[in-house]
Amino acid sequence: MIERALSGLRAVVRENIPLSGRTTLRIGGPARYFVEVHDAEALAALLRAGRAAGLPVLALGKGSNLLVPDAGFPGVVFTLGGDFLATVVEPPEVVAGGGVSLMSLAARAQRAGLSGIENLSGIPSSLGGAVRINAGSYGSELFDVLVTVDLVSGAGERRTAEASGIAHGYRWTSLCDTGDIVTGARLRLAPKAPAEIAARMADVAARRRNALPKQPNAGSIFKNPPGLFAGKLLEECGLKGRRIGGAEISPVHANVIVNAGRATAADVAALMEAMKCAVKERFGIELEPEIRVLG
Ligand SMILES: Cc1cc2nc3c(=O)[nH]c(=O)nc-3n(C[C@H](O)[C@H](O)[C@H](O)COP(=O)(O)OP(=O)(O)OC[C@H]3O[C@@H](n4cnc5c(N)ncnc54)[C@H](O)[C@@H]3O)c2cc1C
Repeated sequence: MIERALSGLRAVVRENIPLSGRTTLRIGGPARYFVEVHDAEALAALLRAGRAAGLPVLALGKGSNLLVPDAGFPGVVFTLGGDFLATVVEPPEVVAGGGVSLMSLAARAQRAGLSGIENLSGIPSSLGGAVRINAGSYGSELFDVLVTVDLVSGAGERRTAEASGIAHGYRWTSLCDTGDIVTGARLRLAPKAPAEIAARMADVAARRRNALPKQPNAGSIFKNPPGLFAGKLLEECGLKGRRIGGAEISPVHANVIVNAGRATAADVAALMEAMKCAVKERFGIELEPEIRVLG
């Protein structure tokens, strides 16, 4: 019925597509429907069709913040392709689609001599996924430079919202609660010499290389509690290197779980529970997941 709803529209529908290759943890069973939507009309039609059929619908960006169950996803998983991969530079602003990778957007801005997202340049995110969670690093957040955000609601209604009108904070925006899909955004950057921007990006890349493990992972598992670092709390619990099945708390960073080989979603979930319990027991602090755990 998904195919029928999208017939004649710019979308490609497939069935039973494994998601493990599309998440950075390299974990996850198949999506019942896997759809690549190429424009806003197809996306709106897909969201309406999913809702009418009572199927859960999930936007998939770069899969860098997701734990997908081993049994897969029983509804529609979609990615933003086609029109959603466009970037237009209008100095000092940049307009980009929700499917654009944050890394390529940062590289494009650098070449255009526009500064403001170099601190975010190493985050392996789509622009849409980054807007949703207000991704940030090294003292910068995406909302620092956002002007407007293009959205499609679960009912398929399109609108452009002023970024200042979207409630946001540390690794959270109200879009996490509304479930609106981010189809694009306008960023206001500041002119700077491309060489200076490139130097900062190289510095960020070097720092990230040292701070993060090389094995498949989903970045920070838990948010930092106010004024504290989740990684430090976990390290003080002596958890580095703790392993359940193929999932391991990285010896490099205690707030990162790596897929050390054949890890299942159940392994990761069990390890997360052990991490939460240890921090609760030792410090009385309730850690909140930063990654989205499905199912
Ligand atoms: C090695 C590594 C380092 C990381 N470092 C950082 C860091 O420094 N700072 C940081 O903030 N994060 C970091 N992360 C986490 C992650 O990259 C971000 O949370 C990122 O913004 C997730 O985007 P995504 O496109 O991969 O989303 P996905 O993982 O694909 O999806 C995550 C959630 O966003 C939703 N979503 C995806 N696309 C859209 C869309 N277009 N509209 C609405 N919702 C959408 C999904 O439905 C899902 O709920 C890191 C991850 C890894 C693996």
